[in-house]
Amino acid sequence: MLRLPTFRYHCPETAAEAVRIVAEHGSRARFVAGGTDLYPNMKRRHQSAEEVVSLAHIDELHGIDGDGIDGSLTIGAMTTLREVEQHPTIRAQYPALADAVALVSSPLLRNMGTIGGNLLLDTRCGYYNQTEEWRESIDFCMKEQGSICWVAPSSPRCYAVQSSDTVPLLCAIAAEVTLLSADGERRVEVDKLYRDDGIDYLSKQPGELLTHIHLPVLGSWRASYRKLRRRGSIDFPILGVGACVHMDGATVSDLRVRIGGVGSMPIVAKATEDALRGEVPAEDSIRAAADLAFKPSRTMDNTDSEVLYRKKMTPVYVRRALTDCVEILSA
Ligand SMILES: Cc1cc2nc3c(=O)[nH]c(=O)nc-3n(C[C@H](O)[C@H](O)[C@H](O)COP(=O)(O)OP(=O)(O)OC[C@H]3O[C@@H](n4cnc5c(N)ncnc54)[C@H](O)[C@@H]3O)c2cc1C
Repeated sequence: MLRLPTFRYHCPETAAEAVRIVAEHGSRARFVAGGTDLYPNMKRRHQSAEEVVSLAHIDELHGIDGDGIDGSLTIGAMTTLREVEQHPTIRAQYPALADAVALVSSPLLRNMGTIGGNLLLDTRCGYYNQTEEWRESIDFCMKEQGSICWVAPSSPRCYAVQSSDTVPLLCAIAAEVTLLSADGERRVEVDKLYRDDGIDYLSKQPGELLTHIHLPVLGSWRASYRKLRRRGSIDFPILGVGACVHMDGATVSDLRVRIGGVGSMPIVAKATEDALRGEVPAEDSIRAAADLAFKPSRTMDNTDSEVLYRKKMTPVYVRRALTDCVEILSA
């Protein structure tokens, strides 16, 4: 049985107090939300913390506020995935987010896991998400104690993969987050929260607390999330496409497409966006634009399933996500 290492557990009741505790202990401290990513990682000795700062008792981090019609909708970082999935305003105004959340893992984990934790979960890799004994047998990898990336042995960087289901969609709908630290508060686009590095994967500073997620009014934008995984439940995405499309009459006036599960950060499908912007969407034009997502999809031997299969499936899933948006718009 895998056991948690010993740590001191803090239960602050305000966000300011949580931030203060983490600032006081520096790299020895970590926030914990639902713990569904952090605790398994601590049990496998991937991530460590001598001081664990629970966010569970901070009321200001819980709940959903706003209608998403006259103004933006704000979700507290500690809102569980289940609450997001079932919230009537989210289902009505942001159905693609409810869909993406419903595809995370299993009901049990969605009851514990939070939306804030989902945005900040660790990057994953087949050579990293293993027991300590297994990892020791290959002399570990550069994401922790080792010096080599087993996915690309001559690489100076780590290729662990961004594996959150909500991130591609939140990037595509241009959501933002509020980050609080001992130095104050700042607001950042979710799109700018990630770095292309499997180790140093967040632009957020370790002492910054994610307090809220802000969803813009979507108006006549329509969004979709499509996920590829081996089994119909539990599995992390090995490819996840978030798309958001705006039409002006019969023409696509703007769109954003983000591909998750195929890089250390969500990938912008720029060529796809450029190809479809200003076009009248039809089966052929959507397929041609989606095919351009093949090249930027950087599938590697770092997760489940065949590398080439995942790459070939990228245009298919981009096409399906775009078709969802356009069909909703024309319905
Ligand atoms: C079997 C299994 C299957 C899974 N399948 C999926 C899946 O299909 N899709 C998917 O997206 N995820 C999946 N997950 C991962 C995880 O359950 C979810 O991503 C969940 O949303 C994480 O939220 P949490 O609250 O439990 O995060 P935690 O584990 O509490 O935290 C995750 C990380 O974020 C940090 N953190 C958390 N909240 C904050 C905050 N407010 N401010 C600053 N830092 C913070 C923590 O320090 C930690 O580093 C799976 C996990 C397991 C165990």
